[in-house]
Amino acid sequence: MLDLKALIRTIPDHPKPGILFRDITTLLQSASGFRRAVDELVQAHAGRRIDKVAGIEARGFILGGAVAHQLSVGFVPIRKKGKLPFKTIAQPYALEYGTDVVEMHVDAVAAGESVLLIDDLIATGGTAEAAIGLIRQAGGTIAGCSFVIDLPDLGGRRRLEGLGVSVHTLCAFSGH
Ligand code: AMP
Repeated sequence: MLDLKALIRTIPDHPKPGILFRDITTLLQSASGFRRAVDELVQAHAGRRIDKVAGIEARGFILGGAVAHQLSVGFVPIRKKGKLPFKTIAQPYALEYGTDVVEMHVDAVAAGESVLLIDDLIATGGTAEAAIGLIRQAGGTIAGCSFVIDLPDLGGRRRLEGLGVSVHTLCAFSGH
């Protein structure tokens, strides 16, 4: 049995002291690891209607693009402020210090479409909550959210479940 968690590399003190950065590039470069991760991100939502996959910049693009291809549906990028070329809608969210903004093209999700949200990792859930806000602002509904990694001590899963969203993660690391 392939151990996805063992394929994730941990880099202490990146990008700043005290952070244990969970690096999925080691998982992505493994043929069987990448294949399995994409399969498992999809499986949890089998039977639900999914019209589009949305991925959060940047690692959510790699995983979300592969998931969209597997489901034969379109892909929607959710990006940091100022990166998307067309007209956007925006959603601010709180960081540890200050705020940030994510954006989505105004025509990326149509009213009534059901969207599966993908990212590599859920920590506090702030980024995913902002992404959910964008999809709902456009009139879309959330089919579910999938992440490779959960940091359960930071409470992101509970936060998203509190928004009425189904959350699936493939492995968990305790602590930050
Ligand atoms: P949050 O909004 O707190 O749930 O943070 C999730 C976002 O930050 C995701 O896009 C992750 O890629 C990134 N992130 C947060 N903490 C880590 C970590 N320990 N290792 C790698 N990425 C992280």
